[in-house]
Amino acid sequence: MEELVQAWVCAKCQHEQTRLLSPEVAAFKERSSWETTCPKCGHAEFQAMSWPRPTPTMDLFEEWAVDVNLSFIEQDEDLYMASADYVPFLEQFVTRRGIPEIKRATLLSALCAIIYENVSDANEPNDSEDESMDPKLGEHVLQFLKRNLYLFDEIDKDYLYGYIARDVLPRLGISLDEPT
Ligand SMILES: [Zn+2]
Repeated sequence: MEELVQAWVCAKCQHEQTRLLSPEVAAFKERSSWETTCPKCGHAEFQAMSWPRPTPTMDLFEEWAVDVNLSFIEQDEDLYMASADYVPFLEQFVTRRGIPEIKRATLLSALCAIIYENVSDANEPNDSEDESMDPKLGEHVLQFLKRNLYLFDEIDKDYLYGYIARDVLPRLGISLDEPT
């Protein structure tokens, strides 16, 4: 099993202590917080805490998708998952029956973020020079969502704000009445 080393650096004496995390712990914010004190000086505050993220797996997504109290990161989970590694899981779980609305909205937002980041905008052709873009990935996700437009009817439109409503939904042929 993949084992991941979490490091805790004392804010007072800079002593570093470490522990091993399983992927099931390291993956989730709620499980990986580490309340501890410095074994050298007894100080309770850390200067830095870090650990590697586990490889995304089916098992981790199975847990995440059904539990509204479980998150991969504190904020912007959709942007965190907006990468090629996550696409197989995003596609599988966004179409699954019975998952909580907030989770489906996060998955759908992540897919929209991938389109935003990887499909060049016809209105801003200069964007297409961006080397960080993966047009093949962007097009793949765009076609996936076009085949599954019903997903947008299953979540509150308030989840689809800002750049998604403005730049992504029109490419899918969806128009929202957004106040400007
Ligand atoms: Zn210390």
